[in-house]
Parts: sequence; C-alpha cells; structure tokens
Amino acid sequence: MKVLKGTSVSMGISIGRIKKIQKPKLQIKKKKINESEVDDEILRFEESVKNVINEVDNLIENIQHSQDNKDILTTHKMILKDPEFSKNVKNLISQELMSLEFAIKTHFTDIIEIFNKMENDYYSERSSDYEDVAYRLLRQVLDHEDINLDDLEEDSILILENITPSLVTKVFSKNIRGLCTEKGSKNSHSSIIARSLNLPMIVNAPNLMNSCEEGNQIILNGNNGNIYISPEKDVLEKFHKQYEEEKKQKKALLKLKDKQNLTKDGKHIKLMSNIEIPEEVEQVKNVNSEGIGLFRTEFLFMDSDEAPSEQKQFEIYHKIALKCEPHPVIIRTIDLGGDKLSRALNIEHEINPNLGCRGIRISLKHENLFKKQIKAILRANEKGNVKIMFPMISCVAEIKKAKNIIAECKAELTKEKIAFNDKLEIGAMIEIPSAAITSDMIAKECDFLSIGTNDLVQYTLAVDRDNPSVTEYYQPSHQSVLRLIQMTIKNAHQENVKVAICGEMASEKKYIELLIGMGIDELSVSPGRLLMIKNEILQTDFLKAKKMDEKIFRSLNEVE
Ligand code: PEP
Ligand code: MG
Repeated sequence: MKVLKGTSVSMGISIGRIKKIQKPKLQIKKKKINESEVDDEILRFEESVKNVINEVDNLIENIQHSQDNKDILTTHKMILKDPEFSKNVKNLISQELMSLEFAIKTHFTDIIEIFNKMENDYYSERSSDYEDVAYRLLRQVLDHEDINLDDLEEDSILILENITPSLVTKVFSKNIRGLCTEKGSKNSHSSIIARSLNLPMIVNAPNLMNSCEEGNQIILNGNNGNIYISPEKDVLEKFHKQYEEEKKQKKALLKLKDKQNLTKDGKHIKLMSNIEIPEEVEQVKNVNSEGIGLFRTEFLFMDSDEAPSEQKQFEIYHKIALKCEPHPVIIRTIDLGGDKLSRALNIEHEINPNLGCRGIRISLKHENLFKKQIKAILRANEKGNVKIMFPMISCVAEIKKAKNIIAECKAELTKEKIAFNDKLEIGAMIEIPSAAITSDMIAKECDFLSIGTNDLVQYTLAVDRDNPSVTEYYQPSHQSVLRLIQMTIKNAHQENVKVAICGEMASEKKYIELLIGMGIDELSVSPGRLLMIKNEILQTDFLKAKKMDEKIFRSLNEVE
C-alpha cells in the first residue's frame, strides 16, 4: 500500500480502480503561413519557450524528485535555452514560412533522427529527452487535449497529470467514481466544476502518476486529501464503513430539502445554485434550490469550434428558465479568458491572461457575439424569472456600456418583431477590488450585485487561484477581502440593492456565520453542497452572528 497526500477538492470517500489517462498524442499537420504572420509566430514561439522553462523550473523547485529526475529536467532546460535551437526554429518560420507547430516538429524530428542513428547507447537514449521537450513545447503551443475515454468502467477513478474544465464535464457524463491529479489547485475552474457535480476529486498530489498502476485499487479520502494506492485489507474495510456512514449522513441532509432557508431567528437567506452545464439543472431541482444564482455560460462556448448561435442559446436558457420557474435564473454573460479558453473565439494568446482580455472585456470587444447572447437572454425571459449578470466588472462605465448594448438589442428585436421580455434585471459581479471600492456607484446602475470571491481573493491578494505553489497565500478570510465584502454589502444596501455571494466562499461551511453576520442577502453554491450550507443557515442566529462580526471587525481594525 502507498499513501500520498494531495489537496482535497470535494469532500467524501471514493473507492475504485485506477484508470491512468496518459498524455495524448499531438497531431501536427504541415502548415504554411503568410509572410505577414511571421512576427506573430516568432513572438508566440518566444512566449511558449519562456512558459515551458518556467514550468520546468517549477518542477525542479517545488516537487520532490530524485537527483536523477532533477538532472533530466535540467537537461530539458538546457535544450530549451540552446541558441541553436531558437535560431533554427526561427529560420524555419521566417524563411520556410512554416507554422510554429510545424517548425518545432521539423526541428525535433531531425534531431531525434540523428540521435537514433548513433550507435552509442548514451547518445541514442538522449533522443527521449528531445522527444519530451518537443512534447512539452507542442502541448503548450497547441493548448489542446484529445483523450480517448471509451474504455472507462463504472468504478474507474481517473489519474491524470492535470485536467481542464471541459474534460471534467466530459468524464462526469461517463459515471466515473472520482478524479485525482498530480497538479492543480482547489479553486481552479476544473475543481469548481468537480465540486459542483459532487464528483470526488483530489489535486496537487506529487508523484501520483509514477505511483499508480492501471487497474489497482485506490481510495480517495476527500476529507483530508489522503490517497491510498493498493490499500491493505483493514484500510479498505475501514473506508468501506466510512463510505456507508457518509451515505447515511447525506440521506439525513436530504430531509432538510423542504425546509425554508431561515436562520434560527427567522432571517431568510436566499440559497441558490451555481451551474456550469445545463445538465446540472436536475441536481438543482433535486435539492430544492431557490433558483440559479450563477450560470457560467462560457462553458457552452468552450468545447467546440463554433460559438453557439443566438437560437441555440435561446433554447438552452429558455428551457432552464422554464424548469426553474418561479425561481430566478441568473445568466452570467461569458467569462472567457484566464483558464477558460475558447477555440470558437480564437482568443489571442496572452502572457498574463487573468489580467488580460477576460470576462466583460471580451464581450465589449466582440460586440456581435455579445449581442447574440443578450438577445437570447431577452427572448428566454418569457416568464420574467431570468436576470443578466456581467463578469469582471472593474468600473461603473462598463455597466453603462453594457446597458446601452442591451437597449440596442431590444430595439433590434422590436424592429425584427421577435418576442422578448422588456423587463430584465441587471447585475454586476463584484470580483475585482476596484469594483468593490466603487460599489456605491455600480449599485446605482444595477438591480443586484453578486460577489465573486474566487477572483476577489485572487486579485486582492495578488495570488493566482490556479497555482498550487501559492495556495497558502490564497486566504478568503484575509481582512482586506472581508473589508471589501463588508463595503460592498453596505454600499449596495444603501441603494436598496441585494447582494449575493456566488464564489466558493459561500460553499464553505466555516464562512457561513461570518457572511450572514455581515448582512449578506443571498448565497449561490455548488448544488452538491447546498444542503450542507442550508444546515449551517438553519443553525445560525443572525443577530448573534452580527455581534460576532462587529467584534471581529473591531479587532481587525485595531492597530497592533
Ligand atoms: C468568482 O470569481 O468568485 C466567480 C464566481 O466566478 P468564476 O469562479 O467563474 O471566476
Ligand atoms: Mg470570477
């Protein structure tokens, strides 16, 4: 038996068999570029090499390797830094007009062939280093994934180096028992989706890939991040018992389904769900959620070569709205960028995507695309329970711009004699510190606000939400974050505007009393956690929580 330690993403025990998902084969086709594209390809090359060198450095520094492994990684770095390599690839791009992918492939194929032909074993073995470097670089350049999922069993627990958000949704539909990755972090989008789907997952488990053998038994303990590979009999029995116990507890929580979301002293906290894919609505209904507080629509755009048409989007939104009626469905316009990329939009590669063209910035840049989404939402609001919300708002001017575009969409639909609901509530996500600080102005232009703590924490504390090596700095209860939440609630309430929290902080038991005490009106959480959060609300006394918070804030504000 081997025991590894990772970071738990979703709670609970999962027992199954190892299914290793290995690196996919990268398909590179011969492709010529135009002369005008040469500079961009060379820039892309330089950025990719830089990123891969960083990735290798990170591996050397942060993960416990044997000395041999470190030496191999250092060799890989030298290959990437070799001026001859850079010169040759740049020449293939600028003189032979090869696409970057094809230039990299050509360069490495030639070198690997030379090494393979050498009779000396030492040199011929070096070819695998070049293969590895080529793979790392091409994976970075192509940013693509093509994995065969045909032979998954019902008791499979997938073991991967890392996983993208779209792959999580894909494997979920295959009824697997869990996911475990060597890299990744608790608040990445992949993790959020797994949690929301109630799919057991552990991430950031060093040495995972090398420690797992296909078909062997594995236990994921989502309560503390422990992973047991080929467990001994008594360990297996212990976890089987715990698994049955948890099943009972889940059943007990189900009894809360029909209870109202009231604190002990009778304050109603509206409890809604976050969804990423339309299929999740069933789960939302199963737990009697008071609607959808965040529909992350970008997932509709992420896994295909074409953006969904206005009609297609209308059909999806309309169906969800009818299913949830009379409860609200808050549709967030696309928040692409960051770790959520779309082939359909052909978003340019950015050095720092989380600070780049993301969320509302993309929508304002691609107005046609934005209008299609807005029109689909206006049309889907037949029963009046649909609301629109904008991500990554940094100032009130962006809300005003978005409102002008909504007005244009209404005028165009009227002209085309297409039915829609003229009344549509508008909300802003408060997830950038500048938005929280100017929330008084933003609240004046909105019908509701929703605090996205995942990004608010990231941007306030300057800590990448996806980077496992800085997890300790990612602190939702840091006093700066709490002050921004408090400020937003106060500003919104002064304008009679309700405030929700839709970030992961609302799905964590330990923050519920604190948030209720601060005066939050609504929470939107992963459907898989909704009943657990309801249980917390039912056990909280609002007035007591308020007093507790006043004390906390007094002490936070005191100079030490
Ligand atoms: C957030 O940032 O808290 C949020 C809810 O949005 P996302 O996680 O999709 O960025
Ligand atoms: Mg966000």
